[in-house]
Amino acid sequence: MTRVISRHIGTFGSDRRAALLLVLLGVLLTGRVWLAEHPEHDPWAPLDLRDPPGWATEAKLLALRDDVRACRAVLDRSGIAHEALAPAGEGACRREDRTRLGDYPLAPDTPAVTCPASIALLMWQRDVLDPAAQASFGSPIARIEHLGAYACRRLYGRDSGPWSEHATANAIDIAGFVLEDGTRISVLRDWEGESAKARFLRSVRDGACDSFATVLSPDYNAAHADHLHLDMSPRWRGVCR
Ligand SMILES: [Zn+2]
Repeated sequence: MTRVISRHIGTFGSDRRAALLLVLLGVLLTGRVWLAEHPEHDPWAPLDLRDPPGWATEAKLLALRDDVRACRAVLDRSGIAHEALAPAGEGACRREDRTRLGDYPLAPDTPAVTCPASIALLMWQRDVLDPAAQASFGSPIARIEHLGAYACRRLYGRDSGPWSEHATANAIDIAGFVLEDGTRISVLRDWEGESAKARFLRSVRDGACDSFATVLSPDYNAAHADHLHLDMSPRWRGVCR
């Protein structure tokens, strides 16, 4: 009798284990299928900028900061027009990575920046600038006005101390925007207050923090009263203010 009961318990136990294993396998398979359909959430899927942003996007973007070849492969894979310019400069201002986007509305020109900064600019335009301009003014962005990307200098132009991200064109300063309907939005003139332009500027500043490592605005200090400083500093997460 005792033996019969224990045998029953044994069978029941292994049945349960088998059922649990099947459920787990099912969950895993469903997970794999779901991830294959949502590569933006899959940490192992190659980054393609045509995918919407997902849970894995930020980690993949940050990993590109140390790998120029992998970064340019992402631009190629995503069908983004760009030029890979020859390295230039010396010492702290040596730029191994000079990538110029072929079709990006920077004005007065599109300077070469690092490849990670190029990708951050693309994502900012697609996921933040264009939707915000449409939502606030019903018009897409025609031009993004900048004050420069490359400058061989230390932070705040000091004689000593850390080098600026501008020294390697890993940064760009944005002064304002012109919409297709002609509306002009200037960081210097429109930042303060509660106007639609002021709200737009603050929202695109906040949105820039999703793709750039460091974002400094007039809220940060007086040196940024007329522009948004955006950079891809190798620090994990810089300031966003
Ligand atoms: Zn700057």
